[in-house]
Amino acid sequence: MDPVVRNFFLGFIKIHILHHASREPIYGLWFIEELKKHGYDISPGTLYPILHSMERDKFLQSYQEVVDGKMRKYYKTTQRGKKTLNEAKDKIQELISEIMEA
Ligand SMILES: [Zn+2]
Repeated sequence: MDPVVRNFFLGFIKIHILHHASREPIYGLWFIEELKKHGYDISPGTLYPILHSMERDKFLQSYQEVVDGKMRKYYKTTQRGKKTLNEAKDKIQELISEIMEA
């Protein structure tokens, strides 16, 4: 994806992260595959800084676990992240009802 266009959709990607990480812990490579299903092509070099900044801003919390002899970093949505996700849902709903009007 064109970096400028990708930047435009960054908010969608962040909301998507909050959604999945509120259901179960997620890790980078799994999420890259998940985004592919939704039509987003994003590299680890783009995704990881997003995850790090969301953790720094306390939307996500991470922990590490050894999987198949390798350290894997999992992220889950914090209370702050869940609150923000709920606010985003309301805004998305409102936006959809406006822009999808016939
Ligand atoms: Zn998804």
